[in-house]
Amino acid sequence: MNIILVSVLMSPLLSGCAEWRVGPTAEGAKTAKVGEAEKVPERSEIDTKYRWATENIFASVREWEEEFAEVEKLMGQLAKYKGTLAQGPDQLYRFLQERDSTEPQLSRVYVYSSLLSDQDTRDGKHQAMKTRARSLAIKYGQLMSWAEPELTAMPFEQLDSWMREKPELELYRQALDNLFRQKKYILSPREEELMAMAGEVRSTPGSAYNMFASADTVFPVIIDEEGRTREIDEQAFYKYMRSPDRRVRKDVYDAIVGTFSKHRNTTAALLNGAVQSHILTVKARGYDSCLAAALHGGNIPVAVYNNLIHTVNDNLPLLHRYQEIRKRVLDLRDGVHAYDLFAPFITPQNIEYTYEESVDTILTALKPLGNEYLTHMKKGFDSRWVDVFPNKGKRSGAYSSGTFLTQPYVLLNFHGSYEDMSTLAHEMGHSMHSFNSRGTQPYVYADYDIFCAEVASTCNEILLQNYVLAHTKDPKKKLYLLGEFLESIRGTVFRQTMFSEFEQKIHEMAEAGEPLTADSMGAAYGKIMRKYYGPHYTHDDLVNDYWIRIPHFYYNFYVYKYATSYCAASDIANRIMAGEPGAREAYLSFLKGGSSKYPIDLLKMARVDMTSPEPIGNGMKLFENLLDQTEELLAELGMTK
Ligand SMILES: [Zn+2]
Repeated sequence: MNIILVSVLMSPLLSGCAEWRVGPTAEGAKTAKVGEAEKVPERSEIDTKYRWATENIFASVREWEEEFAEVEKLMGQLAKYKGTLAQGPDQLYRFLQERDSTEPQLSRVYVYSSLLSDQDTRDGKHQAMKTRARSLAIKYGQLMSWAEPELTAMPFEQLDSWMREKPELELYRQALDNLFRQKKYILSPREEELMAMAGEVRSTPGSAYNMFASADTVFPVIIDEEGRTREIDEQAFYKYMRSPDRRVRKDVYDAIVGTFSKHRNTTAALLNGAVQSHILTVKARGYDSCLAAALHGGNIPVAVYNNLIHTVNDNLPLLHRYQEIRKRVLDLRDGVHAYDLFAPFITPQNIEYTYEESVDTILTALKPLGNEYLTHMKKGFDSRWVDVFPNKGKRSGAYSSGTFLTQPYVLLNFHGSYEDMSTLAHEMGHSMHSFNSRGTQPYVYADYDIFCAEVASTCNEILLQNYVLAHTKDPKKKLYLLGEFLESIRGTVFRQTMFSEFEQKIHEMAEAGEPLTADSMGAAYGKIMRKYYGPHYTHDDLVNDYWIRIPHFYYNFYVYKYATSYCAASDIANRIMAGEPGAREAYLSFLKGGSSKYPIDLLKMARVDMTSPEPIGNGMKLFENLLDQTEELLAELGMTK
């Protein structure tokens, strides 16, 4: 909702979908397919109905070129407003309107090139288009860099009286409020210059960590389940953590975490550097704490963060119960070790869906959302929002894309597993959120904040999960699904909250002047692990160094959003499934809200108060319900002792 858009480059991957999604659950699904050695077709061999309708944006590359040239011209015209915004409300309004018609076109130029390039990354012509569009967006950012400082140089009272004088300008009140909210932390021009000069140096711990983790670490080979020697990389971690062979799990855990551990002092110094850089911001700009500074961007109250951690802590007995079941079912007599945490209760069951079956199942499962939602979603499927199957050169993974002037677009690589169907529901959730917000809000509020972004997607996942569980009769398949759903809550809510707690702890230590060393951070991490996993968990010393594996600790209080989104979504899904009067309509108004309010206020429109313990508590109840179902099934299958 920046007054000057910086999201042109980001919006196409708006829902790049949290990194952890390729972790615990999705990873296993992919590996199950590898052995089949499917033949990946050329794009031209895939039926049009399974390919996204890029022709709805531009009929041809020539049309794209025309718009590209037009945007360049419009950008030049916008730049002429520099130094004139203080002239009066008419001039300011003209500028903002002109900006709001130029940016969507720029964004459309970028999205089109990005879709074409992702559908077959081998196509050099499309790659070149994307590079050009990217440069154009960067150039736009540079050309417009004067606008925010010029606006904030005016007193807000001035703009406030202009908005009264010229009612059309009222449209921008929320955007201006958001911009000026940050003003009290803006320093003098010279001080800002110094802060900017320090930027490169301050980002060095993070970039050094990335180089270390991605380029410089070499892992030892391991022996797999069949006795074959295997080279492993970081990506192999989750795959092998799901191995039924405990020896393999332990070897891989030791190989990967042990390799990181050898560099514990260096990486502790790097993480300390990142934390110290956050402390510098606090001191220079006058925030209360590192946490408050990090949350200020999205205007998220610190109470939301603390509330998450407290409520999850209150519910840790549920996580302990889960570990007790795990210990029993997997017969782990010496307790659940860190390398046992991801292992499924039961070997993956073959549950397959065609694409058409997935679409039908999703449309049925989402019925509680009502006709309006379903009609638009169905239209989305029918008008080729989705690029379904893998083809040679297609980008891997899944995302939802599109922009203000286009329909939503979903990239999938559908193979037919439950995870693939769930991913489709997830990405369509993003797309439907975009569709509703873009269709309702003016451009300036059409995109939603990252804090809200995973709510709509997760809500669909949960509705689908409930439906499929209720309609799966085969007890083994059901047990497998229950295990996957339990893991998704453990991975998204418990694990990310645990990481958040660690992150807060090390920042507080540094703020109190305690040195952050490998030993002090390791001790803190170990203590939190023991608390979270409880009496059936057996702690190994190596686990103290596990934090070294997690790049997110350099993201400055980011991962808590995974947990809050999940809980907000389960809260909404529960109330809609229970048929609470008006809950569905309240949710739709949230979907239509874009960024017209602050994230916490938007969620309140959906009846979710993230400053209260209820939504987190409801996420916990969902977990408890899955545990109950799991215990029942285990008894039925005679798998419990
Ligand atoms: Zn997502």
